[in-house]
Amino acid sequence: MRFFDLSRLRPLPPAAERELSAQHDAEIRQLLPILGPLFGLAVILFNVWDHLIAPQQAWGTLAVRLGLVGVGSLAYLPTRLPWNAVQRCGFIYWTHVCAIILSEFLLQNGFLYGLSGLTACVFTVSVITLRVTTYLLILSVPSLLFVLLSAISLPWLMVVNGLMMYLFALSLAGIVMLVIRSSRQKAYLSEQQLLHLSRHDSLTGAYNRGYLTELAERELAVSRRYGRPLAVAMLDIDHFKQVNDNYGHAVGDRAIQALVDACTQNLRAIDHFGRTGGEEFVCVLPETGDAEAVLCAERLRLCLAALGIATEQGNLQFTVSIGVAVLNSRHADWDALLKDADSALYRAKREGRNRVVLAPPPVR
Ligand code: GH3
Ligand code: MG
Ligand code: MG
Repeated sequence: MRFFDLSRLRPLPPAAERELSAQHDAEIRQLLPILGPLFGLAVILFNVWDHLIAPQQAWGTLAVRLGLVGVGSLAYLPTRLPWNAVQRCGFIYWTHVCAIILSEFLLQNGFLYGLSGLTACVFTVSVITLRVTTYLLILSVPSLLFVLLSAISLPWLMVVNGLMMYLFALSLAGIVMLVIRSSRQKAYLSEQQLLHLSRHDSLTGAYNRGYLTELAERELAVSRRYGRPLAVAMLDIDHFKQVNDNYGHAVGDRAIQALVDACTQNLRAIDHFGRTGGEEFVCVLPETGDAEAVLCAERLRLCLAALGIATEQGNLQFTVSIGVAVLNSRHADWDALLKDADSALYRAKREGRNRVVLAPPPVR
């Protein structure tokens, strides 16, 4: 895969864009404690330099530098303001770079001395943000100040020269930002793809056993915490070996896919559905007591029995057996609840298949 790909610069869907920004924000946040002392040291060193090149104006530039850098330092402090790390860095950039520009304006030949430093600062913005609009916004105020003050204080040829250098730096830093964005986006998308593969079954797209267990354990903790009901339904296709033997493995696969589609459409958005084995599936049903869980399982059973899979040997129909269990105080954990659903499923098979069996309540 190419390192830099223009097609990767298209914005991601809003939720992904928010997550990418949050990741970037968390990384930029770590820069803040390093930037503070670094800029503090820079103020001292630059002012020592001011004293060497223009001692008469150096006290003025010290006041400007300390004033603006002091205001910018608010961004390092923990405040109640709802600003993220990118906004904090942007504020630091505005105050600190404006301090540099104003100092250059105050010093004799200041823009000549300071232009290289000013253009170098632009490159920090390409690290701060991954968005073009934020990049332009952060650069807007210092750039306007630079244009205005250099136009006031320099002969026009020098103004044009300064602007050319500055615009060249802006363009290069913009390209650097786009390259960083492209590689971050690539890393983000690969991470999402891996996450999806690690959580979903490749044949059906349903959750796999590992991820379903993770979700179920979370639901169980919520149910226990708030005293809410939680049910589980375990499904197994009846005589599936015969389906494979009579119609072939590929048709068997299609039947499994059709089952997953039908169950997913029939369950609520808050339910979780996963493939836990070959032709074995589990539904986690939050906020569901025993009567509702049995109704839900019956609805699934009837819906699946009505499915027809077109094959070369005619229409394939199949049935499922379902074991249902509801969380009670005797269940130590998710495995215990699932074990009860499994026993109920086993009973459904023994009693003739194509039925729903509810695990008995605990004996007092
Ligand atoms: P029962 O009613 O007792 O559940 O009978 P069964 O034939 O379904 O029994 P069993 O659970 O022993 O057999 C499951 C079969 O499902 C065996 C296996 O070949 C088949 N199977 C498991 N995973 C897949 C799959 O991904 N695709 C296909 N086509 N078949 C699968
Ligand atoms: Mg089976
Ligand atoms: Mg089975």
